[in-house]
Amino acid sequence: MRKKISSQVITILCSLIILQSILPTSAKAAIVTTDNTGVVQEVHNLIPTAIQEIDNTIATLSKGWSGMTSAEQEHLSKIYDPGHTGQIDEKYVETILNNYLKIRRKLNDDLTIENGENNNMCIGQRLYYTDFIKIYVCPYYLTEQREERKVRTLIHETTHMALLVVDRPYYDPKSYSSRYNALTPQGSWVTQIPVFGHLIREIAHNDTLYHPDTYAWFATEISK
Ligand SMILES: [Zn+2]
Repeated sequence: MRKKISSQVITILCSLIILQSILPTSAKAAIVTTDNTGVVQEVHNLIPTAIQEIDNTIATLSKGWSGMTSAEQEHLSKIYDPGHTGQIDEKYVETILNNYLKIRRKLNDDLTIENGENNNMCIGQRLYYTDFIKIYVCPYYLTEQREERKVRTLIHETTHMALLVVDRPYYDPKSYSSRYNALTPQGSWVTQIPVFGHLIREIAHNDTLYHPDTYAWFATEISK
């Protein structure tokens, strides 16, 4: 009888051990059920490319303003100093470099990416949005074919989170934007206000230094 009980105990223990080894996977699978299109995994798969682009940028900026080639300087000026103010110097390049290091760290962390709903944050051809804590994938992502845009926009959203900044007028290499061209490298520093419970550095929206689009576009363009 005792022998029978102890063999039953061993069987139960073995089952528990097997269950334990299965459970974490099952628990993960339960979370993934909200990702019924596999889109979250797809976005996760873009992260290594985004990291590569950021690494290319970090390597370029690490040379300093005077160490960069004239083509690299031109690229940087086009995006960070669209009004040709000539305000880009060694200190400015160092600041951007430090910001890219923060973006790099954020990408390297386990970014939380979730399916977004078809809400007013997912307007037009928007691929993602962020609440500064998570990145949400919009339904249009499934329609978008351009991988370059998917990666670049992922860097854009990560910049929002890493630097805690909001958008300024968007950059578009194909069409002239007077609003974008009015931005200057430093802009005018106005105030710091808390948003979403985080301290969001909110400036006058007239600088490129804390603009997610400049970081995203420069990283993509320097990697071509
Ligand atoms: Zn944005």
